[in-house]
Amino acid sequence: MRFDVMTLFPEEVDAFLSSSIIGIARKNGFIEVNCHNIRDYTEDKHRRVDDYPYGGGKGMLMQAAPVMKCFENIKSQVDDAWCIYLSPKGKRFTQTKAKKLLKKKNLILLCGHYEGIDQRALDSIVDEEISIGDYVLSGGELGAMVIVDAVSRMVEGVLADESCYKDESIYSGLLEYPQYTRPPVFEGESVPDVLLSGDHKKIADWRFEQSLEVTKQKRPDLYRRYMNRASVKALMAKKNKKKKSNKKHK
Ligand code: SAH
Repeated sequence: MRFDVMTLFPEEVDAFLSSSIIGIARKNGFIEVNCHNIRDYTEDKHRRVDDYPYGGGKGMLMQAAPVMKCFENIKSQVDDAWCIYLSPKGKRFTQTKAKKLLKKKNLILLCGHYEGIDQRALDSIVDEEISIGDYVLSGGELGAMVIVDAVSRMVEGVLADESCYKDESIYSGLLEYPQYTRPPVFEGESVPDVLLSGDHKKIADWRFEQSLEVTKQKRPDLYRRYMNRASVKALMAKKNKKKKSNKKHK
């Protein structure tokens, strides 16, 4: 999968996306990330890319021409590209959205700065606006990095196997159970016995119960949605039946 980030801060974006899991995925060729400096496409001799907004108002606006030229340059290298503008006006980014974007071959991520971008450029090139939350940032770069990270994790080969992201919070519909690593006792606190038992079935049951509990406490909205799934209702009914018959036998 290929990502092209259009930004005024390509070095910063590139540096972040060169570290850790995403950096390794790039090195190993599972994903390709190209960061383009919109400033390289201005014809202004002082390399300016912004100007005052018509009608007045505070702040500066990115001009249409350099954005369009940068976009055309990328488009000449890829076919079938989907262009996303990072914007507080966009639809909120979620794991479900990340899964949908995973189906695209080429994603172009356009980062605004200052007060944003001339509407004419947006109208002409943007397929979709995405917001990473209900707050205003100084630029779209953090959003672009969020999208590249969240989508890349699901690209085949980036993590060891699918369970690495499918078992995680949100994806599964629940929040993750608590996790522990060595040592077994830390400042007097022990790791729950079940995790040291070696009994995989028991461990899986414990983790599931914990996930339910954590989600119920921290995200009642997710919990309700999860419990309303038909498959979950069936699973719970089966578990309860089993519990009852176990009790009877005792
Ligand atoms: N004047 C604009 C905000 C501009 S903020 C408005 O009121 O709608 C500058 C840039 O930061 C935007 O062009 C956008 O690319 C980015 N940005 C700001 N908040 C964001 C958010 N919540 N999600 C994604 N991008 C955001």
